[in-house]
Amino acid sequence: MSIDIAANLHAIQQRIDQACARCGRNPQQVSLVAVSKKKPAALIEQAANAGQPLFGESYVQEFVDKHQQLSNDIRWHFIGALQSNKVKYLRGRTELIHSVDRLSLAKEISKQWGAIDQTAQILIQINVGDEATKAGATIDDAEALIRKIAALPHLHIRGLMALPPYADDLEQVRPWFRQLRQLAEHIDQLHLPQVSMDTLSMGMSHDFEIAIEEGATLIRVGTAIFGARE
Ligand SMILES: *Cc1c(COP(=O)(O)O)cnc(C)c1O
Repeated sequence: MSIDIAANLHAIQQRIDQACARCGRNPQQVSLVAVSKKKPAALIEQAANAGQPLFGESYVQEFVDKHQQLSNDIRWHFIGALQSNKVKYLRGRTELIHSVDRLSLAKEISKQWGAIDQTAQILIQINVGDEATKAGATIDDAEALIRKIAALPHLHIRGLMALPPYADDLEQVRPWFRQLRQLAEHIDQLHLPQVSMDTLSMGMSHDFEIAIEEGATLIRVGTAIFGARE
């Protein structure tokens, strides 16, 4: 069965618009990151041709391959677990890294972007549910980590990212999104240098509307655009 990516993107944009209308937000404040991991470059091209400018990848080697194959007009975010020794492959190629969860990784990003005389834009990943299987700083540890990372050169912390615990009942997910937003508000009030909490990356295919209602500015949607992954 072939998949109609343009139709899927259109349907998602309508759902974004409706979610924004429900909570009085401007849809321009919410950007869709099309999560293309494990999907071929040809499908990314289809989505780009349908007007989707921004894509998210989770695996470094896969990202490097697709980045090489596809047009320079495509904007890339890196959203997956990241080993420090692979940061060099992202250097200068990703607009935003969502998954910075430890000081050692931030130091390597700082070093790599510094080497090309640029500033890396990053989000701090927060493990809101404190789940053993997920990456991210705990809510309790976040402020101390952000203070340390903010002191590094060549980095700008733009906000927070989270992958909250899964629940069929979306109302059970809502408090996690709210906690992430409240943490961002708290950090914002500290007025740290190199920190501006203008970005909240939260919400995926099954829960992005709730995330928008709770303040998401970036939603990361894969399955609802490209279909189920292998
Ligand atoms: C895969 C992935 C997504 C997309 O999930 P879908 O349920 O397919 O929309 C979002 N965020 C992260 C961090 C992911 O790894």
